[in-house]
Amino acid sequence: MKNYVDIQTLIKKLKSVVNADNEFIALHEPSFQGNEWAYVKECLDTGWVSSVGKYVDQFEGMLRDYTGVKHAVAVVNGTAALHISLILAGVKQGDEVLVPTLTFIATANAVSYCGATPHFVDSSEQTLGMDPIKLQQYLHEIAVVRDGYCYNKFSGRRIKAAIPMHTFGHPVDLDPLYEVCERYHIDLIEDAAESLGSYYKGKHTGNWGKLSTLSFNGNKIVTTGGGGAILTNDDELARLAKHITTTAKVKHAWAFLHDQVGYNYRLPNINAALGCAQLEKLPEFLRSKRSLTAKYQTALSTTEGVKLFLEPSFADSNYWLQTLVLEGEYMDARDDILNLTNEQGFMTRPAWTLMHKLAMYENCPQMDLSVAEGLERKIINIPSSPFLGGNHE
Ligand SMILES: *Cc1c(COP(=O)(O)O)cnc(C)c1O
Repeated sequence: MKNYVDIQTLIKKLKSVVNADNEFIALHEPSFQGNEWAYVKECLDTGWVSSVGKYVDQFEGMLRDYTGVKHAVAVVNGTAALHISLILAGVKQGDEVLVPTLTFIATANAVSYCGATPHFVDSSEQTLGMDPIKLQQYLHEIAVVRDGYCYNKFSGRRIKAAIPMHTFGHPVDLDPLYEVCERYHIDLIEDAAESLGSYYKGKHTGNWGKLSTLSFNGNKIVTTGGGGAILTNDDELARLAKHITTTAKVKHAWAFLHDQVGYNYRLPNINAALGCAQLEKLPEFLRSKRSLTAKYQTALSTTEGVKLFLEPSFADSNYWLQTLVLEGEYMDARDDILNLTNEQGFMTRPAWTLMHKLAMYENCPQMDLSVAEGLERKIINIPSSPFLGGNHE
């Protein structure tokens, strides 16, 4: 064990926030303190457990109201939401799609499902998401706009879309990213899987993309067990999203007619029921997460070299996953911190392995990714469950 920095004291301070003595503290656990039992029981009592039912409509309505996006289409998970959004944006075999290298695998995989190639973009220290200035400079070097489409001068392929992702719930700098995408005729799709409850300049994330996606996986701020949604302000795209995620079935009293190759990506009613109850609790989760942030911040105030990542001034983050940023010698001690905390039942995780380092994506086009590579070495996520904030009833 290296002793160049005082890891034991750091861990003691972090654990004091969650009163973790011997108890196992997970990274993120769901909380079911509201109407979850009642709504799910109603599905079972009435038999409406599957692909149709009132909770799907109700859940979509609640998502629209909450995010301020005109349409929400509930789907089976966040990865499926990304897949369909790329199809609807017109991403085709042989295209390139700009993806942050610092993201969960789903963002890159959805591009592959379309037969397209992810093209990796660096992150900003300020947001942990796509860096708009670096992207602008890079496109200036490698891209050309011809006949209304953006092309990579070196690969000859079309760059059809960009998928910025709001890392750990912290909004990316959307205005300049939107501008760069407009200038280069690149469709913006927001991967807002982690940012339900996060606002950029007072407006909910998911409102900038031509299409945006949410996830309700078990570890997200709100869960349906598994689930996702496609958000869009475009009426026609919303209609198509509903159509092709429900097997492209044409409405008819009894005939099975399908007018294109569709997908069975429907969110079951029983999952939507869970989602309705969870959304009712979202404001409380957000307050609790903010109070947990303040507590971790106080605990770390006397530790030189370890900072808690805080929202940029233009953002109101949902603080989905609390994030330590290590500096100097603490950075060298990252693995020791991960080993010791997990050994002691205080669950921590590093950031994802960067996409361009994974075997299936190592030969994809990429810009200089030095900031993301630095972040990968200094980020640690720490326990963030909503009830740890302490103001839960
Ligand atoms: C969770 C997540 C998704 C979607 O995940 P699903 O498990 O398919 O719902 C997509 N992108 C990011 C960044 C995520 O964190």
